[in-house]
Amino acid sequence: MRLIITSLLVLFLSTHANGQEESLIQELKLTPTTSLRKGEPLKELIIPIAMPTSDSIIPIDIKNDHWITDVFNPYKDALVKFPLQITFDDSLYASPIAKDKVVTSRFGWRRGRPHLGIDIDLVTGDDVMAVLDGVVRFASYNTGHGKTVIVRHFNGLETAYAHLSKYAVKENDTVKRGQLLGKGGATGNARGSHLHLVVSYKGVAIHPEYLFDFYSNNTIKSQEIWVTREQTNAFLHSSKKASKLEPLLTESDAIASLKKEKKIYIVKRGDTLSHISRKNNVTIRSICITNKIKTTSLLKIGQKLILEL
Ligand SMILES: [Zn+2]
Repeated sequence: MRLIITSLLVLFLSTHANGQEESLIQELKLTPTTSLRKGEPLKELIIPIAMPTSDSIIPIDIKNDHWITDVFNPYKDALVKFPLQITFDDSLYASPIAKDKVVTSRFGWRRGRPHLGIDIDLVTGDDVMAVLDGVVRFASYNTGHGKTVIVRHFNGLETAYAHLSKYAVKENDTVKRGQLLGKGGATGNARGSHLHLVVSYKGVAIHPEYLFDFYSNNTIKSQEIWVTREQTNAFLHSSKKASKLEPLLTESDAIASLKKEKKIYIVKRGDTLSHISRKNNVTIRSICITNKIKTTSLLKIGQKLILEL
């Protein structure tokens, strides 16, 4: 009995210790200090501990923050600080569809509105799978997105799979990378069947192609990557064109990139390039290069100019 109590105590301590070392313990060896009354003395007691697989180490309780299962975005009051580090414990993700991915629309400005996800072509009824391990936070109808499954992942990201025709999971289900979430479709506001995939952190959508490579063998761009507002601002990207998305690998790179952060300027009546240049402390040359215009180009009222500050 004493042995069992000691064992339980050691087991409790080892699984509740701080630090990450305990996740490396595969088994506990205990040598009893007293012999058992009946039979041979036990020399060694080995208690196996379930080992988490490399992609299922749970460093945080992902359900302890804004875990609301009937709201598409429960993070409305959350503050996200940039630059923001996202880490992955693998270099691969699982494709959300079982065939080659054809991207029909990207994250970016589209028809005068932000398009906050990436559209991947599919046929209604095609399987839609989770890109990473996680827990289903939302599996409901949402205006615009239609039938949608949102999975929260262990690195804090959430992925939303919209316009589905059927659900294969429900809220609070634990899902593995590659696990079926539902069937693709065109529910909600969709022009034809496709998967609208949103990648977000605390409610802030991130350009999916900044984190995931959709054209190669399902690779994650980097296992440690820094996100700035530039990769979350749809206005700075076009849904029709590939953006330059060099991954920022260190915090100092991310901070250095902030110095070159872009600003949108809308041309007002009476504006000239020199006027805009002086007012925003940007050279005329820089405005012309960034916006592919000439110094002699005529500015229109309401025209949007990108200023690289
Ligand atoms: Zn879309």
